[in-house]
Amino acid sequence: MGSDPFDFEGVWLKCALHTHSTESDGDLAPSALVAAYADAGFDVLAITDHWRLTRWRSTSTLVELPAAELSCDIERPGMTCDVLVYGLSSVPDDPGGDERNWMVTEEEHWEQRTFPDLTTAGRFAEEEGAVAYLAHPYWTGMDAEPLLDAEFVAGLEVFNASGELECGRGDSSMVWDAALGAGRPLYGIATDDTHVAHLDVGRAWTSVKAEERSPDAVVDALRAGRFYASSGPVLDAVHRDGSAVEVHCSPCRALVLQMERERGCSVVAGDRGRRDGRVLETDDDGLITRAVLESTWEDPRYVRLKAVDAAGWAAWTNTL
Ligand SMILES: [Zn+2]
Repeated sequence: MGSDPFDFEGVWLKCALHTHSTESDGDLAPSALVAAYADAGFDVLAITDHWRLTRWRSTSTLVELPAAELSCDIERPGMTCDVLVYGLSSVPDDPGGDERNWMVTEEEHWEQRTFPDLTTAGRFAEEEGAVAYLAHPYWTGMDAEPLLDAEFVAGLEVFNASGELECGRGDSSMVWDAALGAGRPLYGIATDDTHVAHLDVGRAWTSVKAEERSPDAVVDALRAGRFYASSGPVLDAVHRDGSAVEVHCSPCRALVLQMERERGCSVVAGDRGRRDGRVLETDDDGLITRAVLESTWEDPRYVRLKAVDAAGWAAWTNTL
């Protein structure tokens, strides 16, 4: 599904898509956060303060992607989820949700209001010419159910680094697979969710293939799924030809094709693990830098790739 970032003529942009400044519950002022992400080699920064549009000027090296982290009610009483919106120009004063779930913490400038459901939040994004992604469903404690009939939601955070560092709830792959397996197409981004900058900056990112170096082009790429997500590995090329998928990547110990339940295949470095395909190139440590995965499963409902490096960090894409 989606638009293949590897075949698309354009520019790779390393994007930080979930960060907080002192305008909500982050520990750096916006200008310091901008400097931290420029130093870390990013091309695009979305400051996603809670229910606040924190604006700053693009610099010569870092593109401003206007963004915010908004919230909505979900069916379980008292429970809310968070939605990242990219490319918006305002946040609504009265989004129409249950006011018992609204909160304001003056000292942290922290504020939450809610939309009544995911579709209403997604429709708001659509009307803004923006694009919406569900934040950290595993950390929130959600299953895939609210996503299945949600309209105007392009995807979810497959990996949220802050959630992983805080409490081991960073990897929302299971929610992603449950939605994809139920026939709901979604893309997966990876983010820092920066609150404590010296711990969080640069732990996870989304590499977007954009038509040009501009916020509008990044929104277009996020809408089309033209990117891969990573907490470590770099994917240089991923090409699918029927049941075969060829991958060029930074050194990895495993490449896995994931499909609906009970299906999938993998190629693993070394003498342990599966070898459903061929390793074509390795580095001096025997880690895989080029391989072909060959699936024997016919007509999978979806296919996504996970590449895992020696330290266990991963990259994900489902634009195959
Ligand atoms: Zn956040």
